[in-house]
Amino acid sequence: MYTGSGNREDSAAAVFIERERTTVEFYTLASGSSGNSTLICSGGTSLLVDAGISCRKLTSRLALLGNSPSELNGIFITHTHSDHICGLKVLLKNRSIPVYASEITGAELLRKVETLDESQLHILRPEEPVGVGDITVLPFPTPHDAPGSMGFHFSADGRRFAIITDLGHVPPRISEIMDGVDAAVIEANHDPDWLVNGPYPFPLQQRILGSYGHLSNEVCGDLAVQLVQSGAKLLVLGHLSAENNSPERAYQVVSGALAAAGCREVRLCVAPRDDLSEAFYV
Ligand SMILES: [Zn+2]
Ligand SMILES: [Zn+2]
Repeated sequence: MYTGSGNREDSAAAVFIERERTTVEFYTLASGSSGNSTLICSGGTSLLVDAGISCRKLTSRLALLGNSPSELNGIFITHTHSDHICGLKVLLKNRSIPVYASEITGAELLRKVETLDESQLHILRPEEPVGVGDITVLPFPTPHDAPGSMGFHFSADGRRFAIITDLGHVPPRISEIMDGVDAAVIEANHDPDWLVNGPYPFPLQQRILGSYGHLSNEVCGDLAVQLVQSGAKLLVLGHLSAENNSPERAYQVVSGALAAAGCREVRLCVAPRDDLSEAFYV
């Protein structure tokens, strides 16, 4: 049953116990087709993935976590669609936070984000790991209609976590990279029936359904089964469409796929679209 997971209802005692046992935690600051950002913390290192909400919202949600933009050790950008970068220009104003992106994404960021100085941009190469403080990040290409688009696999203190949204299908190489993660944010963008019967114009429907578009709940369910069978204990469904999906529907489809495959040892949550999530411990 979908329980509205994603809000902050853990008791302080439970949170304390989790903190004792885990060394990596993450929070979605927003997740959906209208804005995306995730904070990952390990040891003394804080990384942001994407800045697709206003700087005002980003700053206030970081403040709720006792964090601030100036404390970020790096910002990793998946791709340049506005729901991933729209807050970046103001976020970087008068701040020299390192920004990490693929060569193509980086070049486009330099054109679009005038507050980004070339000296703070670090170019990511596919499958070349980058260490930032206590966290090692492995970038990998994703099939999406934004050239240079990437997903990220994080490892810290023996724990492994990944963010994989904005992709039209799951190529075998991504399956291999995701194998063995302890936790992941995975895309459950749409219900295909809702999409084709919904308000979107036909070309946009085709874009979303295409192999460089977004993952449906059904394909997300297949991915979830694969991840749990290779050891994942926590999956957070993200990048839900507001028009063509609902948290209840995404949860129902993916939890149904997990149950059908006999995958019971996993916690399944849905990231809030435009709110800070609970703390997720890897
Ligand atoms: Zn997106
Ligand atoms: Zn996108």
